[in-house]
Amino acid sequence: MANSQLTSVDDALQHILASVATESANENVPLAQSLGRVLAADQYVPADVPPADNSAVDGYAIATRDVQPNQALPVSDRIPAGTAPKALKPGTAVRIFTGSEIPDGADAVIMQERVEVTDAGIRVMAEVNAGQNIRRQGQDLAKGTLALAAGTLIRPQEMGLLASMGVGEVAVRPRLKVAVLTTGDELVEPGQPLAKGQIYNTNRYTLLGLLAEAGCEVVLCESLEDTREQTRNRLEQAAASADLLITSGGVSVGEEDHVRAVLEESGALSLWRMAIKPGKPLAFGSVNGTPVLGLPGNPAAVLVTFLVVAMPYIRKCQGRHHILPRGEWLPSAFEVNTASVRREFVRARKQGSASEARVEAYPNQSSGVLSSACWGDGLAVVPEHSTVQPGDSVLYYSFAELLG
Ligand code: AMP
Ligand code: MG
Repeated sequence: MANSQLTSVDDALQHILASVATESANENVPLAQSLGRVLAADQYVPADVPPADNSAVDGYAIATRDVQPNQALPVSDRIPAGTAPKALKPGTAVRIFTGSEIPDGADAVIMQERVEVTDAGIRVMAEVNAGQNIRRQGQDLAKGTLALAAGTLIRPQEMGLLASMGVGEVAVRPRLKVAVLTTGDELVEPGQPLAKGQIYNTNRYTLLGLLAEAGCEVVLCESLEDTREQTRNRLEQAAASADLLITSGGVSVGEEDHVRAVLEESGALSLWRMAIKPGKPLAFGSVNGTPVLGLPGNPAAVLVTFLVVAMPYIRKCQGRHHILPRGEWLPSAFEVNTASVRREFVRARKQGSASEARVEAYPNQSSGVLSSACWGDGLAVVPEHSTVQPGDSVLYYSFAELLG
C-alpha cells in the first residue's frame, strides 16, 4: 500500500465531520432524566437566582447605621429560611439563618459567633460593613442572561443549574441510535467455550461501553459471518433502524473483508485507509443513506479509532458545541525512534503531578494489545513524520476528555 494513498487523520476527520447534516430535532424530557443528554436550545435565565438577597450565615440582620459601640440592639423578629420576611424595625436586629431572605431595611448580617446575647438584646463584637454576609439576588444567574448554550452536554452540575432556574422539563437532542456490527468467523461470545482457531468477541463489548459513555442508544448489536451476502443483508437491515452503523473488522484488503467490499459495491465508500496508528484500515460510507463507520478489527485499534474519529463525529451528530477534545502538552517519558507516515496514538498515562508530570507509554503498543489501554489513562500523540525523545513535549488526551 503506497503511502500516498493514506488519508491524514485531519483530512479524514474534516471529511467525516462535513458529512453531518445539521438538523434541529428535539424532544422534551423530565429534568431528572436529562443526564448525559444535549441541550437542544439556548437556555436563558427566567428569573434571578437566587431570587432575593439572603443570608450566607446564621446570625442577625441589622442596619449598619444602627450599630453603636457598647449599645445592645433588641431582637425584634425571627426569620427562618423559607418564610417571607417583614421589614426590619429601625433600631433593632432580627434573628436570621443561612438562606433566610434579608428583610427590607437591613444591609448586613452579623455572624452569631460575633455577638454577645444579653437581656437587652445583642451586642455586636466585630466590625460591621454594609453588604457583609449577604448573598445578592441574581449573583448566580441574572435574569435574561444566557445560562447554558444549545449543544451543552448536561452533566450533574448542569442538571442542578437548570433546577435552580425552575426548569422542570428540558428540550434535548434525540439520542443517536447506533447499531454495532462485529465481523469475523473466528469470534465467539464470552461465556462460551473456545474451539481451535477461535477468539472471543472483544470489540462488541468495548463498543457497547464506549457508546453508553457517549450517550448513544444501541438499537442493535450483532455478529456477522464473513460472507458478502450476510454482510450486505445485515448492514441494510441495520440501516433501517439506526442513525449510524459502527462495524469492526472486515475493512482491510483481504478477500474476507466484506464490510469494505459491501460499502464499495454500494458506491458510497468515502475513504478507507487513514494515516493513523493503530488502525490504518478505516472505512466511512453509507448504506441506504445511513452512515457507516467501519472500524478496524484489532481491539486497541478499535478503541483508538473510536475515540479519535467516531467520538467527534458522534458529538457533531448530537449537536454538541464541543466537538474536538482538548489535549495538554506534557513532557514525554518515552521515546519513539522511528518516524512514521502515520500519526501514532500511544496508550499512555500521566505520572507525577504539577511540574513533575510526564507521560509514560505502555511498552507494547501492538494494535492487538488492549491491556495497554487498561494500564493507561489516555493517549499521547506522536505526529506523523516525527520521533520523540524523553523530555520532548507531547500532546496528551485523557480517556475522560476523549469520551467527554
Ligand atoms: P480483520 O480486519 O477483520 O482482518 O481483523 C483484524 C484482526 O482483528 C484479526 O486478528 C481479527 O481476529 C481481530 N478481530 C476482529 N474483530 C474482532 C473482535 N470483535 N474481537 C476481537 N478481535 C477481533
Ligand atoms: Mg475479519
